[in-house]
Amino acid sequence: MEAIIETLLEYAIEQHLMEPTDRIYARNRILACLKEEDYTPTDQRVSYHYVSELLQMLCDIAVKKGILEDTLRNRDAFDSQLMNCFMPRPSEMIHTFETKKNNSPILATNYFYHTSIASNYIRKDRIDKNVSYKVNTEYGIMDITINLSKPEKDPRDIAKASKSVSTSYPSCVLCKECEGYYGSLRCDGRSNHRIIPLKLNGEDWFFQYSPYVYYNEHCIVLKGEHVPMKTCRKTFIRLLEFVEQFPHYFLGSNADLPIVGGSILSHDHFQGGNYEFAMANAKVVQSFQLTEDVRADRLFWPLSVLRLSSVQKETLIDVADTILQVWRQYDDPAVEVYAKTDGQMHNTITSIARYRNNRYELDLVFRNNRTSKEHPMGIFHPDEKVHHIKKENIGLIEVMGLAVLPARLKTEMQAMKDYLLDGTCSDLLDSHLEWLQNLQQSMTWTKENVEEQLQEEVARVFVEGLRHCGIYSFDEKGDIAFQKLIDTIEGTLT
Ligand SMILES: [Zn+2]
Repeated sequence: MEAIIETLLEYAIEQHLMEPTDRIYARNRILACLKEEDYTPTDQRVSYHYVSELLQMLCDIAVKKGILEDTLRNRDAFDSQLMNCFMPRPSEMIHTFETKKNNSPILATNYFYHTSIASNYIRKDRIDKNVSYKVNTEYGIMDITINLSKPEKDPRDIAKASKSVSTSYPSCVLCKECEGYYGSLRCDGRSNHRIIPLKLNGEDWFFQYSPYVYYNEHCIVLKGEHVPMKTCRKTFIRLLEFVEQFPHYFLGSNADLPIVGGSILSHDHFQGGNYEFAMANAKVVQSFQLTEDVRADRLFWPLSVLRLSSVQKETLIDVADTILQVWRQYDDPAVEVYAKTDGQMHNTITSIARYRNNRYELDLVFRNNRTSKEHPMGIFHPDEKVHHIKKENIGLIEVMGLAVLPARLKTEMQAMKDYLLDGTCSDLLDSHLEWLQNLQQSMTWTKENVEEQLQEEVARVFVEGLRHCGIYSFDEKGDIAFQKLIDTIEGTLT
């Protein structure tokens, strides 16, 4: 045990989680977690690749001693508490972050991101299991990730959760009250979690990293209060004020309606980071000068996007707000857009802000969540024929060009390769069969090309699913309908 603890203490010092003078204190905090009174310092060390390996050894000791019940959730909560022994208090981290930010926002985010990984709040060992690749498509280079980092739920934890009395603290996994929370059946262990307060539109917001980092420096900006997502003028103000403070990050907001929104609608939040998605570099099809200093570009992208840009933040907000108000009420039967049916509102916007080349940018993605008899999951939602690859909501991250695909696809793609090469058919392939038969007949498959060609074909299905979420196609019908929307916007602006 001593060798493991000493190795962990050295790791914490090397990673700048603490200073050498904190060593004895931190060691004693670890011993307290392990309910150990005795200790003999040692020069022995253990070898490891991920810090999680050291933590796992300490969890094993706690399980053996009978102080930790052996489920994944309990282990996660316990090892977060172990790592918290090295963490600065929130006020100290905020102070360091602010001091660095005054110098350069890049230094501040570098420090915070590094700490979030070093503290094992971002579980790097799990993230590294994800399968990620890039595919060149007509719209640009799309990112594909097969998400293997979210561990399967432990059945013992599920059984317990079903019997537990439901509590309301913290209200959800995004709430600021998660900071330092030990963990419960409905909320992950967050002892080592830290958040940084921000002022956006004069309101209290908080900055943190996503524990699942789908792309570089994937951050979350959450509202201080637990209130539902709402896309409005304030959304644009908050997004643009954030990129003004952190010009090296983009920040986007999911839409505020089911089907076209993200997975959490109950707590207003944004996602951003230090990453350039294919959408950021999409080709411009047509440009419109909407006001003296606000330009609008129609992007060549599977979803329907209008990019506003201006050197003036305030006029950009005014124009974006006008467009949102026009769109909320907008009907166009030619492209099946109805703002309201049976008292339900359907039109909303996914928005993404950037600061580039001394200009503020706001990408407005037109969304509609109406359903019909033929499309009960949504008219502007991936069609049934692509569900074998992707059937979940197309939220902000997918909109920008990163497919987050379910873990099952890793084994299924292995089986697909066997099928394409020699016709071996597995039960795993049932949902893919029709598509695979077509692929096998229409292309040549060899051991050398199967990996790359299959990855490309999977990406093509994802892009097709994105196109189903688009409202305006790039053909005569789509172009005429899009021009009609622009005319309505221009008419409202003057
Ligand atoms: Zn919440």
